[in-house]
Amino acid sequence: MKIFNTELSATIHSFIDFFFPRFCICCQERLSINESHICGACQLALPRAIVSSFEDNEMARIFWGLIPIERCATLFYYTKNSVYTRILMKLKYGNQPKVGITMGRMLAKSIYEKGFFNGIDVIVPVPLSKERERQRGYNQSEWIAKGISEITSIKIYNYCIIRTKVTPSQTSLKLHERLESVQGAFQLKETHDLIGKHILLVDDVLTTGATLLACAETIAKIPQTKISIVTLARTHY
Ligand SMILES: [Zn+2]
Repeated sequence: MKIFNTELSATIHSFIDFFFPRFCICCQERLSINESHICGACQLALPRAIVSSFEDNEMARIFWGLIPIERCATLFYYTKNSVYTRILMKLKYGNQPKVGITMGRMLAKSIYEKGFFNGIDVIVPVPLSKERERQRGYNQSEWIAKGISEITSIKIYNYCIIRTKVTPSQTSLKLHERLESVQGAFQLKETHDLIGKHILLVDDVLTTGATLLACAETIAKIPQTKISIVTLARTHY
């Protein structure tokens, strides 16, 4: 019966794929049945951010002297005109939250074996302001977190922190303006369950680190917490 169901499911999938073909969001080539959002070739060519240490790398150094962070990792680098910016465009502005799940899985798989998640208790996606989330319909970081949670079985906790300030799109701001724009942007909510926990902060993109710093500083007010950070991508100038 199970074989029958598997065969039936495969037939249905082929049928759907024939009439409703799906395309890679990076290169626009047709996806095979087993691929989601990004084709195998684009996955292979993804400019991955490979580091030898999660404690000491280019991303971790951004936070040195500002706030203690246990581990930092990102999946890939992108430049302005790279096809890989399309992943972020679809995820943030294209109403395709499930791209976040696919990418979150990919991110988690790339660092899981190296022990990145050892001892991490809970995943906290960087929140959007209520207004921004209403406009977008979802928080993209939450969908990346779902993909990570699927691979690691670490629970997502959405209630500890809120974003009270609508911050302007940061791409046009200088560093000191960015830091000012996120000052006081986050507030703690329900934190009792998180006392003494190792928290993994998840965001889509790291540019200057101003947003993640503000968010981590707020979370660090919870007693005895440790903080690690992952982002899907990092800008490369
Ligand atoms: Zn492709």
